[in-house]
Amino acid sequence: PHDEVLAAQEAHLKGLADSEERTIFDKIVSKEIPATVIYEDSLALAFRDINPQAKTHFLVIPKIRAGLTRLSKSTEDHKALLGHLMYTAALVAKQEKLDAGYRVVVNDGVEGCQSVYHLHLHVLGGQQLSWPPG
Ligand code: ADP
Repeated sequence: PHDEVLAAQEAHLKGLADSEERTIFDKIVSKEIPATVIYEDSLALAFRDINPQAKTHFLVIPKIRAGLTRLSKSTEDHKALLGHLMYTAALVAKQEKLDAGYRVVVNDGVEGCQSVYHLHLHVLGGQQLSWPPG
């Protein structure tokens, strides 16, 4: 069953090393600081971006960072989690009624303009977007 698959993934992720500095997103996961959470399961959390860049802008993050400070740090150990996060983005986009389309973005590192080093998917929509980004 699906719950058992998620529980196995959770146990696996908890066993992975993560010595990097914690970020504000860990405090959102632990509810130490507030966020407008719009979806949560055992592996993923989605909440509204505090500085929205589109009419709808939310973030999807892993609740256990497991060394994924950024996408470029991903290893084979993270493949299932990465799939779960991408699927969660689609699920929450549907919940948010983004039926006319949306964009999923991952900023990686300095040149990608990443500012929070806890992997997150940006989901932007609710309006016509333009392309390409800067
Ligand atoms: P950038 O800041 O260049 O977008 P990132 O890709 O690292 O870089 O995105 C971090 C995102 O986290 C930003 O969109 C920012 O508005 C959002 N953010 C930062 N702090 C919070 C918070 N406390 N609650 C919700 N969103 C936040």
